[in-house]
Amino acid sequence: MNVIERFSSIEGEGTRQGSLCSFLRLYDCNLRCVYCDTTYSYGDEVDYEVQSVEDVADALRQMGNRYITITGGEPLLQADEVEQLIDVLSRETTPFGPYEFNIETNGSIIAPFQ
Ligand code: SF4
Repeated sequence: MNVIERFSSIEGEGTRQGSLCSFLRLYDCNLRCVYCDTTYSYGDEVDYEVQSVEDVADALRQMGNRYITITGGEPLLQADEVEQLIDVLSRETTPFGPYEFNIETNGSIIAPFQ
């Protein structure tokens, strides 16, 4: 996976607002919105880390949060890897319950999975 950053923080949006959450920000975006606040997630000048799905899963496990937000950029540009990651972690649970995933997409790519 092409990874911009991973971090643990408080979810600021949606129904999980206020909950501790692990964020995975993936590289690249197919749009260039003028109001974008994450321009560091795309473009030729940007450095990103290439990691296996298992390495990303390990990093998310170590954060210890039940909630995971996969964002970008446009995370569905790496839909196959995102699906694999969700598949791996969905077989596991945390002390707080099973993992729950939120994919922050710009809506221009249809997820090839449910
Ligand atoms: S879709 Fe999101 S990440 Fe992509 S350019 Fe627009 S605001 Fe930025």
